[in-house]
Amino acid sequence: MRALPDLRRRAGGDPRLRTEDGALKVVDLCSGDGGFSRYALETGHQVFRFDDNPRFANVPRTFQKDVWDFDADTFADADVLLASPPCQWATVPSIGAHWTGGYRAYQPKDAETIRLWALAQHCLEIVRDSKIPIAVMEQLEGLSGKLLTERPTGKVWLCQYGDTRAKPTLLWGRFPEGFEFKKCHNGNPDHASAPRGSKTPGSTQGMKGSARRADMYFLGRYLFQCLEGPKP
Ligand SMILES: [Zn+2]
Repeated sequence: MRALPDLRRRAGGDPRLRTEDGALKVVDLCSGDGGFSRYALETGHQVFRFDDNPRFANVPRTFQKDVWDFDADTFADADVLLASPPCQWATVPSIGAHWTGGYRAYQPKDAETIRLWALAQHCLEIVRDSKIPIAVMEQLEGLSGKLLTERPTGKVWLCQYGDTRAKPTLLWGRFPEGFEFKKCHNGNPDHASAPRGSKTPGSTQGMKGSARRADMYFLGRYLFQCLEGPKP
């Protein structure tokens, strides 16, 4: 195993980090194909992924466990908590498929919408209530900013972190020192154009949840680079 950076020292002695040897304990909820925590795993941190979808059984470090059964106390000593609950219940192009009741009434149409809405809310409560110092939940921009009990901490555009698409994303939680919520704007050539509602292959809105989690690699990488601090 390669030598790890002393993150506590390099992060300016950030007292929130409990690592002693540089390896952070990282929990990734609704981890899918593991994109959000992939950089952490590749750089030698201790990653625990939770996703009960059997499609992801072979993703390294994945425990096939329902997030409702996740016991935050067992991981109270973790340094970083990541959460990517499925967000197709809340994306703008699918509002009509999942919601009814007229203008801004937001009545869920079916049990699956209710299930995913509750799951996102539950992840938000884990992020909010856990004692894990760095804790971040993400959702593709959409109704989750309105229909969860807390407003997002901020919004980022994933193109600003290395993605080829814009992907405005809402974030909740507690962030590393120096973390910047980077913005972009429609039409900027740094990201490919993907008209709202298009279902072209490869566009986030046409993707299933796993691809969405793959997209989170870039933000995950940035988050851990913030913790690593400037290169010596
Ligand atoms: Zn952009």
